[in-house]
Amino acid sequence: MALFDLRAEDRKDIVKHTADLLEDYYKNTKKRDVTPDLDIQNVRQYISDFAGGPIQESKNIINHVFGGLERHAVQIAHPSYFGLFNPRPAFPGIMADFMTATTNPQMAAWSHNPFTFAVEEYLIKELGQRFGYQQVDGAFCSGGAEANQTAVLCALNHTFPEYLMSGLRGLDKQPVLYCSSETHHSIAKAARMCGLGLEAVRHVKQNEQLQIDVEELDKMIEEDQLNGLVPFMLIATAGTTGPGSIDPLEEMGEIAKKHKLWYHVDGAFGGALALHSEKKSILAGIEKSDSITIDIHKWLAAPMGTGTFLTSHQDILSSTFRITADYMPKEGSEFDAEDPYTHSIQWSRRSLGLRMYMSLLFFGWEGYEQTIQHHMNMGQMMKDLLIEQGWTIMNDSLLPILCFKFDTHTEDELRNIYDYILKSKKAWISLYPINGEWTLRACITNYATSELEIKEFVELLNEARRSLS
Ligand SMILES: *Cc1c(COP(=O)(O)O)cnc(C)c1O
Repeated sequence: MALFDLRAEDRKDIVKHTADLLEDYYKNTKKRDVTPDLDIQNVRQYISDFAGGPIQESKNIINHVFGGLERHAVQIAHPSYFGLFNPRPAFPGIMADFMTATTNPQMAAWSHNPFTFAVEEYLIKELGQRFGYQQVDGAFCSGGAEANQTAVLCALNHTFPEYLMSGLRGLDKQPVLYCSSETHHSIAKAARMCGLGLEAVRHVKQNEQLQIDVEELDKMIEEDQLNGLVPFMLIATAGTTGPGSIDPLEEMGEIAKKHKLWYHVDGAFGGALALHSEKKSILAGIEKSDSITIDIHKWLAAPMGTGTFLTSHQDILSSTFRITADYMPKEGSEFDAEDPYTHSIQWSRRSLGLRMYMSLLFFGWEGYEQTIQHHMNMGQMMKDLLIEQGWTIMNDSLLPILCFKFDTHTEDELRNIYDYILKSKKAWISLYPINGEWTLRACITNYATSELEIKEFVELLNEARRSLS
C-alpha cells in the first residue's frame, strides 16, 4: 500500500464522513453565521494547536478542516450573502472538482487530455456564439483578472506585432488604452504586468448613469494622438463591480472601429446575460468586440477560479502565446488541436471547463436562463421593498445590484447601519461610493437567495435604523 493512498476502507469512511458534513452544510447553510469573528490570533491558534499535535484520526482531521472553512470565513454560499459577485457553487460543479482532483488532468498539452480539452473547446464555442461571434476562439483561465490580462496582451500583439520579439522597448511611442474610472482594477494591474505602466491607462470620465462618456472618449483619443501617444485598446465594462453599470457597448464599438482600437468588453459578471434569450439584448453591440471576459465563477455559479477569455480572432491567442519547448509532447500540432500552453498565460493547469460542463448536463442552457431570471426577480423585489421602506436607490443598474441610502442619514449613520448588519452575522453587504456619496451595496449573487431572505434583509435594515437612536 502506498502511504498517500490510504487503505480502501479508510477512503470510503472519509468520503462518507465528508459527504455527511457537506450535505448538512448544503441543507443548512443558512444556520451558519455569514461573517466570521475576525481574530487572526484565534485562527492561527486553531491551526497550530491541531497541526502541532500528534497525527489524528481521519474524522478529526476532516472535522478540523471543514470546521475551519465553516467558522473562519465569510460564507459566500449563504443565501443572505449579498456580496461581491461570489456565488454559491452549483453542486454538479463541485462534483466535477472532486472527480477532476482524482484523475488530475494536466491541461498544458492537448494529448494528455483529449476529453477535458474537447469539453473546454465545446464550451468556448457555445459561449462565443451566445455573444454573437461568428468565429470563436478563447481560453479558460483563473478568473477575470487573467482574462483581462490576456486581452491586453492580445491587443498589444495585434497592434504592434513587434511587441512579441522586442517588447515595449521596440516601440518608439507610448501605447495607451482607454476605460472608465469605474473599470475593474485588474486592468491597471494588467497594464503594469504587461510593462505598459499605470500611466498608459487613460480613465475617461462618466456620465450620470455611471457609463463611459462617449463624447469625452472620442475627444480624449484625438487629443492623445495629437500629443504623440498611440491609442491601441478600448475597454468597455458590462456590469461594473460597484454600481453594476453597463457602458454603451454599441457606440464604443463604433469609436473603436473609427480609431482602429482593439475593443474588449469586460463582462466578468454581466456577461452572463448572454445566456438569457431576452435579457441578452442588454448586451447589444458586444458581438462587434474583439474580445470578451466572462467569469464562470460569478453569475454562472462555478467554484472559484473559473474564468474565460473569448475572442473573435482565430489566430491571435496562438500568435501571442506560442512558444515551443522540446520537452513538451508534440501531438497537438499533428491534429487539429492547439496545446493550451501555447494558447494562454498558464502552463500546467487544472481542468476548468468540467465545472460548467457538468452543470450544463444537469440543467441545460434553460437552467442558466432560469437562474439568471431568478436573480433578476430577486433584485427587482429588493428594489421595490427598499423604495417602499423609504430608501433611495442611487444606482440605476439593469443587473441585480442595488446601491442605496437613506436621505436623512449622515455618513456616520450609514456606516453604523453597515456595521450593525455585519455584526448581526445574518447578512453580508458592502459600502460603495456613488459620485462621492457613500451607499450600502447589495447584490443578488446566490441562486438560493429567495423572497424570504430578501424580506429578512429589509427587516434587518429597519432594525439597524431603529438601533441608531
Ligand atoms: C470580478 C471582476 C474582475 C476580476 O475577476 P476575477 O475573477 O476576480 O479575477 C474583472 N472585471 C470585473 C468587471 C469584475 O467584476
